[in-house]
Amino acid sequence: MVPGVRLVVLGKQGAGKGTQAVRLARHYVVPHISTGDIFRAAAKAGSPFGRKASEFMEKGELIPDDVVLGVVMERLEQKDAKGRGYVLDGFPRTVNQAEALTARIGEVRDQPLVVDLEVPTEIVLQRLAARRVCTDCGANYSTAVPPKTDWICDVCGGEVVQREDDTEAAIRRRLDLYEEQTAPLISWYLERRQLRTVDGLGDPDKVTERLVRTIDHWRELAG
Ligand code: AMP
Repeated sequence: MVPGVRLVVLGKQGAGKGTQAVRLARHYVVPHISTGDIFRAAAKAGSPFGRKASEFMEKGELIPDDVVLGVVMERLEQKDAKGRGYVLDGFPRTVNQAEALTARIGEVRDQPLVVDLEVPTEIVLQRLAARRVCTDCGANYSTAVPPKTDWICDVCGGEVVQREDDTEAAIRRRLDLYEEQTAPLISWYLERRQLRTVDGLGDPDKVTERLVRTIDHWRELAG
C-alpha cells in the first residue's frame, strides 16, 4: 500500500460513510475531513458560527454552500491535505459544491477519486434510528452494538447519545435532500469518469476490504 490518496466518499446518511471514511483515512495515512464533524464541533463550542450551523443541522437542512465551501477550501489548504491527500466525508453534497471543488483543484490529475457506498433506503432507515454517537470523538455505536458500559464511549470515555438530527422527521428530511441534491452528484461524477460504486452491505470489515480493493485497482490503472 502506498500512503496518500485523494478521496471523496459518497453515500446516503446511514450507509456507513463516516465509519468507512475514518478507516480509509487511517489506511492511506491521510486526514479524514468530515464537514458534519467540523460543524458539530463548532456547534458544541457555541461560537456564533456554530450556533448558526446548528440551526440548519437540527432541522436536517443543508448549510449554505458559501459557508461550507469556505470551511472545506481552508481545510484543504493545510499542509497535511496538500501534501498527502485527504478523505472527504459529507462534502460535496450538491452539484454546485462539486463544481466549486473541481474548479478550485484545477488540474485533472489532482482531482479526487469518488466512491459511492451503496445501501438500500430501507436499510439506512433502520440503521439511522438505531445509531448512537460519542459527543466527544464521534465514534459510532448502535442500540444493537452499544459501548461496553452504560453509554460511555469505549474509545474516549465521552457520552454516547442519539444525534439531534437522527429524529424521524429530520432523518426523512435528510434522505429527501439526498435524493434531490446529492444523488445527482453520482451521474455528475460518472460523466467525468471519477466515480466507482461499492456495495455497502454486510460486515464493515468486508466493506473496507471492498473499498480498498476498488481504490487500489483504480490507482494502478491511473498509473
Ligand atoms: P453529516 O454528519 O455529514 O450527516 O452532516 C450533518 C449536517 O451537517 C448535515 O445534515 C448538514 O446540516 C450539515 N452539512 C454537513 N456537510 C454539509 C455540506 N457539504 N453541505 C451542506 N451542509 C452540510
